Amino acid sequence: FEGMTLLELSKRTGESVMVLQTILVNVGETVSSEFDTISIDLAELIAMEIGINVRRQHSTEGSEILPRPPVVTVMGHVDHGKTSLLDALRNTSVAAREAGGITQHVGAFVVGMPDSGTSITFLDTPGHAAFSEMRARGAAVTDIVVLVVAADDGVMPQTLEAIAHARSANVPVVVAINKCDKPGSNPERVKNQLASEGIELEDIGGNVQVVEVSAIKSTGLDKLEEALLLQAVDMDLKARVDGPAQAYVVEARLDKGRGPLATIIVKAGTLVSGHHVVIGSQWGRLRAIRDMIGKPTDRATPAMPVEIEGLKGLPMAGDDVIVVESEERAKMLSEGRKRKYEKDRLLKAEEARLAEAETKE
Ligand code: GDP
Ligand code: MG
Repeated sequence: FEGMTLLELSKRTGESVMVLQTILVNVGETVSSEFDTISIDLAELIAMEIGINVRRQHSTEGSEILPRPPVVTVMGHVDHGKTSLLDALRNTSVAAREAGGITQHVGAFVVGMPDSGTSITFLDTPGHAAFSEMRARGAAVTDIVVLVVAADDGVMPQTLEAIAHARSANVPVVVAINKCDKPGSNPERVKNQLASEGIELEDIGGNVQVVEVSAIKSTGLDKLEEALLLQAVDMDLKARVDGPAQAYVVEARLDKGRGPLATIIVKAGTLVSGHHVVIGSQWGRLRAIRDMIGKPTDRATPAMPVEIEGLKGLPMAGDDVIVVESEERAKMLSEGRKRKYEKDRLLKAEEARLAEAETKE
């Protein structure tokens, strides 16, 4: 899909050709007839201007659809061991082995399974807020949720919250009963509690896997990884590999020397060094792509987390990454989005002000 005529866009959006033409003129484009083809970037910009949310759908026709690794998020009640479990898993990752145990926290890491040649991508930001905020913004990156429940504490309010989040996002759960090294631990009690919350555990004939682990003693991690891979196979996760990349920001930070850096996860296509991108309302040219151990690479494929360099500004977690054909397009789309976001922000502020005025009355 390369673009559409102005007439087609008019039909799809329900706006007159005249209105669309005015918008085009405002962004410095000229079209002479309604049969002129406009690029997907322009179409998106116009859609944004008239308040329609469009998501790019690249045709998968003729492209290679291949299995991809699962992207996993850890959730659970506070102090049940989410951070400890991520640390322990990270220590089994490529990063830990190749970098001699020195690992950086950059939003995600990859655990490779040398035996099967597969891998698992873990998002390094436990917490329900991050998960639901990203979902709310349309950034559905998580395939599987690891629900961490401490064996000595059992199901707690945030456990239920996590279950609710996973359910509403339609994301399957793998349960990790943690702290099984503790003398007072009672995994059976946790299972019963989960069952009474409607979690259909494997033990009772359901399809939710349960693994007993200890993040501190690093036990059961291989079982957990196996369970996640099994779940992934069950889900038959696949993605288009060729064609322009579509990705989401997991984390962004400002580096003194390198400028704005973003950890992103590729959803589809292949991200290639040197390409122009628009991320949220920011833009840039991919000066460098690094994998999770900091090794430069010139491309990134689906489910692969990478850190990218070359952005003009700092994007936000959940922002979408799209590839555009030129710097001009990148700038134009970025400016259009900035205007749109600002408009939305003002509108929201005004709505909030009105709502407040109403409650005061
Ligand atoms: P989070 O709030 O879910 O991220 O929990 P943390 O990872 O910060 O862990 C909370 C506390 O539980 C810390 O004091 C950890 O050392 C402890 N903890 C985490 N996992 C285990 C475990 O497997 N066994 C034991 N005995 N303690 C653990
Ligand atoms: Mg924590």
